[in-house]
Amino acid sequence: MERAAPDRPRSVLAERTLVLNRSWIPIHLTSVRRALVMLFHHAAVAVEPDTYSTYDFEQWLRVEPPPGTRIVRTPNRVIAVPAVILLSNYDRLPGCTVPFSRRNLARRDAHRCQYCGRRQATDQLTIDHIVPRSCGGGTGWTNCVVACIPCNRKKGCRTPEQAGMKLLSTPRRPDWSLVLAVESGDGAVLAKFQGRGGLASRAVGA
Ligand SMILES: [Zn+2]
Repeated sequence: MERAAPDRPRSVLAERTLVLNRSWIPIHLTSVRRALVMLFHHAAVAVEPDTYSTYDFEQWLRVEPPPGTRIVRTPNRVIAVPAVILLSNYDRLPGCTVPFSRRNLARRDAHRCQYCGRRQATDQLTIDHIVPRSCGGGTGWTNCVVACIPCNRKKGCRTPEQAGMKLLSTPRRPDWSLVLAVESGDGAVLAKFQGRGGLASRAVGA
């Protein structure tokens, strides 16, 4: 981890910490600053991702940060940056938390035009309303896909059937973990807890 910059606490505080609910399911990312505030207020405990050990704030302060790991310096101590925190009293499963936006739609569709399959930069992709808005089609996850400009032009104000075009996949509301996966700085840590979360989510009937 060469890029660790212990002498720049501001940037470390703005980095991301993975948040788990009480069932150990990843629910979102927060800033290191917010994660430490939550630890301080006992709203969460820190999790050591390799051992799954948990630490309350006082215990966490006594954790010696291994050399090269991210730290926060205060005037009188050095605090290890928690990569993962576990909420103490928040049990709700994440619902439809991925905001609908062109960027997230492009992520869901893997930046591929959903008609011809060509991969494009986000700014070269348009939002296609499968059932056109002029025919009452809504703007949302299940009626929108990304399409390249030529395909969108070709389809025009028609349904795919009317235009003789076929969708590559059935559009669905994306899994909330999509955004986590993309934005999480440490994919390995996330994958680890997604495995645990998957078990937990089945147990609670999610
Ligand atoms: Zn296309």
